[in-house]
Amino acid sequence: MVEALNRLTLRIKGLFMTPKKLTVEEGRQVVDEHYASLTQDDKVEESEAERRKTICDGCNNKVQHFKIDMCQDCYCFIKLKTALKNATCPLDKW
Ligand code: SF4
Repeated sequence: MVEALNRLTLRIKGLFMTPKKLTVEEGRQVVDEHYASLTQDDKVEESEAERRKTICDGCNNKVQHFKIDMCQDCYCFIKLKTALKNATCPLDKW
């Protein structure tokens, strides 16, 4: 699952770096579409995702690229990372 998250992150980042760069809205749409494609089996309970997001919100490693929340330690999209069952915080904060 972590490998899948890394592949997905690289794929989305690649879209930002193509000759026709995505706008912020297009980038957000891509992340949202990937989030929507996750099955219930892929995801943790909403309460757990919220708990993780709250921790990320208070973390110095949370940054924004293209106005999308990312972890600068692992370069993952926080919306996706915090939702996935087998994802882990690289600093063991959650
Ligand atoms: S995943 Fe961990 S290191 Fe990254 S922003 Fe969230 S709490 Fe911080």
